[in-house]
Amino acid sequence: MARVLIIGAGGVGTVVAKKVAMNHDTFTDIMLASRTKSKCDKIAKEIEESLGVKIQTASIDADKVPELVALFKEFKPELVINVALPYQDLTIMDACLETGVNYLDTANYEPIDEAKYQYSWQWAYQDRFKQAGLTAILGCGFDPGVTSVFTAYAAKHHFDEIHYLDIVDCNGGDHHKAFATNFNPEINIREITQKGKYYENGEWIETEPQEIHRPLHYPGIGVRESYLLYHEELESLVKNFPTLKRARFWMTFGEEYLTHLRVIQNIGMDSIEPINYNGMEIVPIQFLKAVLPNPQDLGNDYTGETSIGCRIRGVKNGEEHTYYIWNNCSHQAAFRETGTQGVSYTTGVPATVGAMMFFKGLWRKPGVFNVEEFDPDPFLEELAKQGLPWHEHLDVDIEFEK
Ligand code: NDP
Repeated sequence: MARVLIIGAGGVGTVVAKKVAMNHDTFTDIMLASRTKSKCDKIAKEIEESLGVKIQTASIDADKVPELVALFKEFKPELVINVALPYQDLTIMDACLETGVNYLDTANYEPIDEAKYQYSWQWAYQDRFKQAGLTAILGCGFDPGVTSVFTAYAAKHHFDEIHYLDIVDCNGGDHHKAFATNFNPEINIREITQKGKYYENGEWIETEPQEIHRPLHYPGIGVRESYLLYHEELESLVKNFPTLKRARFWMTFGEEYLTHLRVIQNIGMDSIEPINYNGMEIVPIQFLKAVLPNPQDLGNDYTGETSIGCRIRGVKNGEEHTYYIWNNCSHQAAFRETGTQGVSYTTGVPATVGAMMFFKGLWRKPGVFNVEEFDPDPFLEELAKQGLPWHEHLDVDIEFEK
């Protein structure tokens, strides 16, 4: 019996629910719960029609611990996959502790009134999960997630010490909209408009948003302008791989996207401060989310591929080596399989594979862990089988590694 509860029925939740149902031999009892139950019911209906698998659904406000506790006591999951929003991480972890349930998520906690990404809040649960004998798996999407496992795999198989890490994230796809975000617009815009930051020689160096950028070549896609951003996996990777001298994260953006973003910022629509409008309190970025295209609806017309990977330089047997490991994912192929675009797919598939690792007993130990702290081999083997094959290249002439 492997009972799994998925919380969140957005783009990522859709992929997780479908992939979990496709692996019904591992996940015997499945529930999908979210704020809007009708979204769960729609996904459940699609799953029953296409796969013949019945999943249960429920309505839940995951900001409320007592509601979560009541649902956990009723369904009795062994594992909760949290693919709601980062704001709900701590309440779900609290409910897990209260009811003896294990935990997995894809994004680190962020307070709703402060765009601040750090693991400290969730790492503070380490002793309580350990004492309760429960496992918490943090950041099991693509980035964070697969990029962290790629790094662990490189460290295990190809290097004695890794010194330089560049995580490179390219969306070479086209959704044919003037402006849209590929996952939750509020979370996405909060992430991109914050200051950039990277790690070098034991220090964090801050940059202005999009200050550092350069053209990079992505396999199967070509050259794309790539911007240095702060991304949450850098925090845990420099802690877990202390030989790192430098760690950076790069993401591609088109000119059209950045122009829209500049306008949004200039007119204050990215603000997370509540304002009074006609006697009603609204948060500009939440209003903006309501008028932007829903990332879940982009799949139909989405062409092209994503390409995300790690470029690493380090030493093995006293000699310097370079290494590149990556996955390319086609938006169309993701849509054909799950009805969602590639960004939801590349997040939902690793979350499903992480849950499989948990139920197989391979990623299971008391405490709170980032994914690079588990054995990367069985995860990467399963990831390729579940739709995200990856490639590696040793001693490539990696750009900008110096
Ligand atoms: P969506 O906005 O599409 O979906 C979020 C879902 O969570 C919605 O169904 C929403 O319900 C539900 N939800 C929000 N608040 C609550 C609440 N209080 N209680 C219950 N349910 C709630 O987001 P995505 O699917 O695009 O993203 C999901 C998560 O995945 C996010 O945390 C995101 O940061 C993360 N992510 C991680 C990536 C990675 O590579 N690691 C990449 C992309 C995303 P409703 O429909 O009612 O609004």
